[in-house]
Amino acid sequence: MATNRTFTMIKPDATQENHIGGILSMIEEGGFRIVALKKVLLTAERAGQFYEVHKERPFYGDLVKYMSSGPIVAAILEKDNAVADFRTLIGATNPAQAAEGTIRKKYAKSIEANAVHGSDSDENAQIEGNFFFGPDEQF
Ligand code: UDP
Ligand code: MG
Repeated sequence: MATNRTFTMIKPDATQENHIGGILSMIEEGGFRIVALKKVLLTAERAGQFYEVHKERPFYGDLVKYMSSGPIVAAILEKDNAVADFRTLIGATNPAQAAEGTIRKKYAKSIEANAVHGSDSDENAQIEGNFFFGPDEQF
């Protein structure tokens, strides 16, 4: 079932460099409504849980360290075709391959420190949103 919501995080490199406002502006200008929003510091354990799906990948250990190295901003976003449209707005995982006008093209520093997360399916958008926000925090 297609839904109109996706989940994002502004990652530690971008919060550290004061790009929260710039990235939220690009998100709103891209036609997304911010449904829920919070800034939190993940423990390594919790970052590891979030990225559990990648635990066999060679980059997992470094990714967990990076994602717990500073605060992230978690948000649930709403728009028609939210998951696919948000993946388009953020651009490729590797900023060297990200299209002009995308968030990662503008803000990402490397394939790891790539400024933002975006859910890859409706199912994961719901799981990831629930990881940070209870039903009463989602408007
Ligand atoms: N990542 C990394 N090295 C890689 C691939 C991914 O450090 O070779 C990190 C990067 O921060 C990426 C995250 O792991 O955003 C999750 O990887 P995924 O393949 O799901 O990319 P995404 O869906 O974020 O574009
Ligand atoms: Mg992914």
